[in-house]
Amino acid sequence: GGPRLDQTDGEQRIAIVGGGLAGSLLALALARRGHGVDVYERRPDPRRQDGAAGRSINLGLSKRGMQALAMVGLLEQVLARAVVMRGRVIHAPDGSTRYQPYGRDAGEVLHSIDRNELNRLLLDRAEALPGVRLHFEHRLLRADKARRELELDSPRGRLTVRPLWVAGADGAFSCMRRELQHGERADYHQEYLEWGYKELTLAPLADGGSAIELTALHVWPRSHCLFVSHPNLDGSHTLTLFLPHEGEESFATVRTPEQVAALFRRHFPDLQAMLPGLLEQWASHPTGSLITTRTAPWRFDDWAVLLGDACHAVYPFYGQGMNSAFEDCCVLMAALAARPADRAAAFSEYESARRPHTDVLAELSKANFVELRQKVQSPWFIARKRLDLALNRLWPRRWLPLYTMIAHSTMPYGEALARSHRQERLLRTVLACALAVGGVGLAVAALGVPV
Ligand code: FAD
Repeated sequence: GGPRLDQTDGEQRIAIVGGGLAGSLLALALARRGHGVDVYERRPDPRRQDGAAGRSINLGLSKRGMQALAMVGLLEQVLARAVVMRGRVIHAPDGSTRYQPYGRDAGEVLHSIDRNELNRLLLDRAEALPGVRLHFEHRLLRADKARRELELDSPRGRLTVRPLWVAGADGAFSCMRRELQHGERADYHQEYLEWGYKELTLAPLADGGSAIELTALHVWPRSHCLFVSHPNLDGSHTLTLFLPHEGEESFATVRTPEQVAALFRRHFPDLQAMLPGLLEQWASHPTGSLITTRTAPWRFDDWAVLLGDACHAVYPFYGQGMNSAFEDCCVLMAALAARPADRAAAFSEYESARRPHTDVLAELSKANFVELRQKVQSPWFIARKRLDLALNRLWPRRWLPLYTMIAHSTMPYGEALARSHRQERLLRTVLACALAVGGVGLAVAALGVPV
């Protein structure tokens, strides 16, 4: 026979496809409101494993993500497991460093958190609630919108479930998105970055201290490659090297121990000295790809909705992927609460409230790639940042640097960008006027000098 219909009280329960960051947080939020939730996750239970091959991969948590964690009562626990990053340290090729604070006041900081630990905590808390069931090694294969059924591959074989509705939180290569949009007038755009990435670990010192400043994000900007590092509680740092996939100096050409050593000698001699196990790490850690996606619609009738990377994967250069996925949960929960009797309208309002802003985030994340690689070192950029912070200090409510609005506020991304453009125009006008007044003054002075 065909797949089994695994149905007890399933029709009253919500299905979440993907038990990653967004899926586990949404499960928690829905269960706290009294809903029954089944989470179907393709991978084995991460709590029964030693992380990603024992490595710690961490993410920068900022205001939007913190707001979502507060919504499910987990913010304090998460912050207790995170390292505060107060600014970024820029490492120049000659080994010198420069510190750039993230914001004007002490609250404008980021938090570096181990991604696996955060996921395990969210799953633990979700599972502790009576309404939640977690199903690991359950992979979505197909969604039948007409019958309102999901077909899954599981250790017990194929099974079919018929949930009340489904949230697709199955990441950048979402199966739920494909199924939801199948046969619909749907848009889908995906773009691969020509650069890939590799994660390496900078071990703590023998005395448990950190080899580089612990409470900061570190950046080694070079025009053809870039290192970024996030700190861990044990004094180690997760380093991420961004390098083109192909070309003269690329993942395709830097393969042998000699080629790796030469790359570090040329661009990162300071790091090379701190990474004794570099060659082994290089050989054993995978090279990842980076993708941006934009898509519509995010919903189907009153039965299915998407969130997180499943509907808006972005490059990681603004550190907003997880934060925006978490923010989706807040917006979706608010829309469901506002429309308790009309789920189709709630899904539609969620998409309208969210999609224009995540599209803006995709562009901002691309632009920040250039900023991190090239601009952070330019004297003009540094002066501009200082001016931004000085104006913010003078007029804390009126003048907000773009980075502050994105990372340290929950102002919708599109509004933040529009406001930043308005500020930019104002600044240009003021500077032009100042120059004109200065020019007139000079002319008057020159003409007024008695001959
Ligand atoms: P995911 O975390 O990808 O979870 C999707 C889940 O769905 C996975 O568990 C997967 O196994 C499961 N799944 C997939 N297909 C199926 C299926 N068919 N059936 C069942 N389950 C399925 N974000 C930040 O906010 N700050 C940062 O500093 C940051 N740094 C980053 C650095 C790098 C190098 C990268 C690559 C990303 C970074 N991000 C960062 C982005 C962040 O990792 C993602 O945006 C976030 O993980 C998205 O969460 P998600 O739950 O939508 O997707």
